[in-house]
Amino acid sequence: MKVHISIDMEGIGGIADGADTTVGAPHYEYCRKLMTGECNAAIEGSFEGGATEVLVNDSHGTMLNLLQEELDPRAQVVRGRTKALSMAHGLDAGMDATMFVGYHARAGGGDGVLNHTMRGHDLADVFLNTEPAGELRLNAAVAGAAGVPVVLVTGDDVLCAEAKAVLGDVEAVEVKKAVDKYTAVSVHPSVARQRIREGAARALGRLGDFAPYRVETPTTLRVAWNSTSTAALCANIPGVTRVAPREVAYTSSDVPALYRLLRVFFQLGTAALAANPYTYD
Ligand SMILES: [Zn+2]
Repeated sequence: MKVHISIDMEGIGGIADGADTTVGAPHYEYCRKLMTGECNAAIEGSFEGGATEVLVNDSHGTMLNLLQEELDPRAQVVRGRTKALSMAHGLDAGMDATMFVGYHARAGGGDGVLNHTMRGHDLADVFLNTEPAGELRLNAAVAGAAGVPVVLVTGDDVLCAEAKAVLGDVEAVEVKKAVDKYTAVSVHPSVARQRIREGAARALGRLGDFAPYRVETPTTLRVAWNSTSTAALCANIPGVTRVAPREVAYTSSDVPALYRLLRVFFQLGTAALAANPYTYD
C-alpha cells in the first residue's frame, strides 16, 4: 500500500502566528521541529496501518522545512518548491491514499488559525465552480482526479469542520482550537503526535470507506485577487476571462491543468507585487 502525505505548517499543533512559519522569523526553527514531529507521527501511523511505502511532500512555503535526519527513515521526502502540482505533487494513480497533515482553513473560513488560500498577502478567494476552495479542496480535487482518496486531515477545529464539509467521511484529527487567526489553544506536542499516529493507522484500517473527491466537470476555476492590476495581468493569458474587476476565471475538464494554471496565476501575482512594491495607504 502506497501512502502519500502532503504536510503544511500552519495547522501543526503549537503554531499560531506568521512568526512561527516564516523562514528567518523568530520561532521558525523551533516550529519546523514541531512539523517534523507530526510528520513522523503520520509516517509511523501509516506503517502501523499497513503502508509499505510512504512519500512525504513538504508543502509549506519554501517547501524546505522538514528536518530530514530526524525523519522516520522508512519514508521518502520531496523537498523543493519547483513542482507543477506544488502541494499535490506525487498524487498520481499509483497512490492508494493521501493524508493532509498540518493543513489550515481556507481564506475567510471562520477564524481558523492562519486561514488563507495559498497566498496570504494578495489573494482573497478561490472557487471551483461555485464552491469556495481552500488548499484542502484544491489538493483533494487533484487527488480525486487520480482516483486517490484523502483519508486523514490534521489541523485546527475549523480545518476539521471544513474537511468534513468538503469530503464527508474522513479521519479528522484536531490538534488545536482556533481563538483567532493568530491565536490558538494547542494540545501538547506528544498528544498531537499520538492522535495523528492513531488517526493515520485507523484511516488506513478502513481505507475502503473513503471515496476520492471529485469535482463536477467541466470545472470553472475562479480567482479573486485583492488588486485589479493582478487580475488584469492574469487575464492576458488566452482563454482566461476577467469576470469582475478583481476576478479571473478559466474553465476546463482537466482538474490538474486548472491547478497548474493557478500556480501560473500566482507567479504573475508575485510579478505584480514586485513591480509595485510600495504601499499607498
Ligand atoms: Zn503553509
